[in-house]
Amino acid sequence: MKDVNSRLEIILSAYNSHRKVVDYSAHIDQVTKTQTNCQECKRVSGEVMKMYADNELTNPLDAFHAAIILHHGIENEYAVAANDLCKYAVARLGDNHKDIRSARWLYAASYDRMLVHDGKLQKFGTQFVKNKDGKFELATPIDSATTDEERAWYGIPAIEETLKRLSESYS
Ligand SMILES: [Zn+2]
Repeated sequence: MKDVNSRLEIILSAYNSHRKVVDYSAHIDQVTKTQTNCQECKRVSGEVMKMYADNELTNPLDAFHAAIILHHGIENEYAVAANDLCKYAVARLGDNHKDIRSARWLYAASYDRMLVHDGKLQKFGTQFVKNKDGKFELATPIDSATTDEERAWYGIPAIEETLKRLSESYS
């Protein structure tokens, strides 16, 4: 296997440090789980998006790490890229890799995000919005064709558990 792309590793490390400097919510909106207007976050994700477009993320761990950054982007093209990269990583990391569960989870979350962007049913049930009463609700309804067994493989809670968490989410 090709070594990880050191430039991506440096970018990820800098990105993580950057977000620790001040309050996390300065970088990631706690409702939408996407980027705020932080210019540095936008610059970094733009740089990673270029690496993706240039096909530089051929190592599966690089692909997963890049997806972590891109999943925070607001535009749908970022969700599409994050999902594509996770699909690649999940197929190649191996079932015993320490990050395989996180990669599967991010695959499911980015997949749902693309569906929500298109106004479609969520396959897994990972995308939420805050309503005017300050309560979290599903961004779009969940596709009833998805089984909880399939969710479990991606590390996504069963539907009933998600709905229970939402019903308790007053803030
Ligand atoms: Zn930032």
